[in-house]
Amino acid sequence: MPEKNQVCTAEITGLTAEGSGVCRVDGMAVFVPGTAVGDMAEIKIVKVLKSYAFGIVERIITPSPDRVENTCSVYKQCGGCLLRHISYEAECRTKDGIVRDAFTRIGGLTPKFDSFLGAEATEHYRNKAQYPLAVQDGKAVCGFYAPRSHRLVPVTDCALQPKVFGEILRTVLGYINEKKLSVYDETTGSGIMRHIYLRRGAHSGEIMVCLVVRKDVSRQLSALCRLLTESFADIKSIVMNINPRKTNVILGDSCVTLWGSDTISDTMCGNTVEISPLSFYQVNTVQAERLYAKALEYAAPDGNEVIADLYCGAGTIGLSMAKKASKIVGVEIIPQAVENAKRNAESNNITNAEFHCGDAGEVFGKLRKQGCAPHIIVVDPPRKGCSQETVDLIAEAAPRRIVMISCNPATAARDAKLLSEKGYSVDKVCGVDLFPRTGHVECVVLMSRDKG
Ligand code: SAH
Repeated sequence: MPEKNQVCTAEITGLTAEGSGVCRVDGMAVFVPGTAVGDMAEIKIVKVLKSYAFGIVERIITPSPDRVENTCSVYKQCGGCLLRHISYEAECRTKDGIVRDAFTRIGGLTPKFDSFLGAEATEHYRNKAQYPLAVQDGKAVCGFYAPRSHRLVPVTDCALQPKVFGEILRTVLGYINEKKLSVYDETTGSGIMRHIYLRRGAHSGEIMVCLVVRKDVSRQLSALCRLLTESFADIKSIVMNINPRKTNVILGDSCVTLWGSDTISDTMCGNTVEISPLSFYQVNTVQAERLYAKALEYAAPDGNEVIADLYCGAGTIGLSMAKKASKIVGVEIIPQAVENAKRNAESNNITNAEFHCGDAGEVFGKLRKQGCAPHIIVVDPPRKGCSQETVDLIAEAAPRRIVMISCNPATAARDAKLLSEKGYSVDKVCGVDLFPRTGHVECVVLMSRDKG
């Protein structure tokens, strides 16, 4: 067994979903952050647990061919990106492996794996960013938290964000500092300005600025609205979100529009979508469109089928399939997102879609009792996956095909396995990279009812 403070030479042979390299020392797996598969390195063991250990790099002896020079100045401190030290080609290979492993090892399944869909743009691809504020050296700053901490790393020009976000942030920070607006303090719960939250439609270019505050300070923000709208023609909406609670949750329930429209619009798979501060909207529009196209390919609707879209957010997936279905039935827990979904249907002249608000399992159960019998079910749950109840209900509804979309291959594989035990064959899986340079990867799964 390796011992603490032991220094050894080892080759990195794997990369975890958390972006950490893995090597073996005396038969034990040692996780070494910041390394790449193929690195030969001198490693110092810093922590030994029962079945694995952690190490840090003392020296790279021979660098991996996957290594590239990182171009971000805060990469080491910031918790956002994990894979900037390897080539994007190596990143896709790694993420494809994570998806395949989840289904074959966790799921014990043998689907056909379609080619991994890597992204063309690995920078400036995000349409949304939420920056916490803090005071450092007597000045308001914004940025991102260091991994597993609430220590703020000041950043205004994140490589994943639209370039214009940096300029907007500097304008807002300049205003906060000039007017001496107080910054929220997490430990005491005092101070006003909590987060700067920005959204930008990837196709439309429309920008929303949302200022998250502890209490209503609309009067103090009116000059900022003028400053922003005079400097940035693409800003279409400035919203104040009030979050009075002492919590890690970023947004509060109440939104007050300070300037312009309550929402911004963008297009997704050819449909216009309205985006409000509280609604879920995939952060990488271009890759989301490829993901939804894959979902449509797997769903293969014949034009006469009813499609259920569970965990539907603002309805984007269901609406992208509406022309090829007799009816779309969406279910989503956030009321504002359901409102957006309804309006999105209306503004695109889609009349065969209905949306319901509530827990996916609960609402779908009720709809089933009222005779709803979808031929195809699309599910796109959050990271923790579907509840057992939802999996049971989906199986009982016995659709011809199930298309599962997930940002967590491990829970997707778990849920696919449950459905495979209930008479579905897991036919195809495709990994899609919606989050280049970070540790996250998305996947789409096609399941169909066993013919037997
Ligand atoms: N399909 C949408 C959203 C996917 S994200 C899109 O692609 O844009 C997952 C969604 O599930 C979020 O909108 C979240 O609000 C919703 N959600 C989370 N828990 C839920 C539950 N128990 N029941 C229904 N929806 C839920």
